[in-house]
Amino acid sequence: MKEARFYEKRDDGRIICRLCPDNCLIAEGKRGACKVRKNDKGTLIAENHGLISAAHVDPIEKKPLYHFYPGRPILSLGTAGCNLHCLFCQNWEISQSTVEEVPLQPLSPAQAIEAARRIENNIGIAYTYNEPIIWYEYVEDTARLAAQAGLKNVMVTNGYVNPEPLKEMIPLIDAFSVDLKGFREEFYRKYTKSRLEPVLESLKMIRESGKHLEITNLVVTGLNDDPDEFERLTDWVAGELGGRTILHISRYFPAWKMHNEPTPLSTLYRFYEIARKKLDFVFLGNVPGTEGREDTLCPRCGATVIRRTGYVTRITGLDHEGRCTSCGEKVLEHI
Ligand code: SF4
Repeated sequence: MKEARFYEKRDDGRIICRLCPDNCLIAEGKRGACKVRKNDKGTLIAENHGLISAAHVDPIEKKPLYHFYPGRPILSLGTAGCNLHCLFCQNWEISQSTVEEVPLQPLSPAQAIEAARRIENNIGIAYTYNEPIIWYEYVEDTARLAAQAGLKNVMVTNGYVNPEPLKEMIPLIDAFSVDLKGFREEFYRKYTKSRLEPVLESLKMIRESGKHLEITNLVVTGLNDDPDEFERLTDWVAGELGGRTILHISRYFPAWKMHNEPTPLSTLYRFYEIARKKLDFVFLGNVPGTEGREDTLCPRCGATVIRRTGYVTRITGLDHEGRCTSCGEKVLEHI
């Protein structure tokens, strides 16, 4: 537990949390919508500080980040809670729980650094599995120590955060994997209990910062699988963030409260073609045997420079500076 940041006290004992665009008004003894920030006698407490629900060594490709030190492992940590409530959440057991409802283990920021240093070839620490924004103080404390230890910090986030906290967080994070879950406000409101516009603003801030950014769009059958909507999404990404923005198109499988059938492969292949018209780097995820749609192609000469099969990654056409060995084009910044 730790006192939370970004809140205002009111005379009547209630608190307004300003961490995310929900701006929850929290009565004494109650929690905000993320279930882990609690009004304790007029002080907002981050109940999940230093508490871990999951700690694994994952390939960086699992975040998914395909152009950030490909093929390397990263220590991945999660806690409890989330400020979104996506009906199709794959990690709902931890994301929709209070700290009392899920088994948690203590891990201080210093212990996290020690654990990360013991892992061979480790890039650093990824804050993932549930939403790390609602773990803000722990991520901040740990990321500072990680940077001092020469480790990278990765945030896997829904991007639903207010501008001021994001502005302070960006310098501490080396790479962001952001979910862009759809491109209609109604979709965000109805199925995630949040809003699209703040996520778009976060994406623009991250892009402007120059930090590494990859975007994932989970295509849920019957909810956000309209090709016109997806085309608007790719138009926006290309127009606002640039044609070299990395986009993962991910296959949905039934989870939590959503029982629609898994995304048909034909939909994913069609979306891949739509996105490739605007973006240089498009990948299909959660799909076995994609016939090259997981590989990185050089945007100038078309050579296959990274081959992927599931989480097996082979760099086949890049030099140590991330340049294409066929034509010299700079493809990767982080290799
Ligand atoms: S971080 Fe949690 S408590 Fe704060 S505004 Fe968002 S949902 Fe509410």
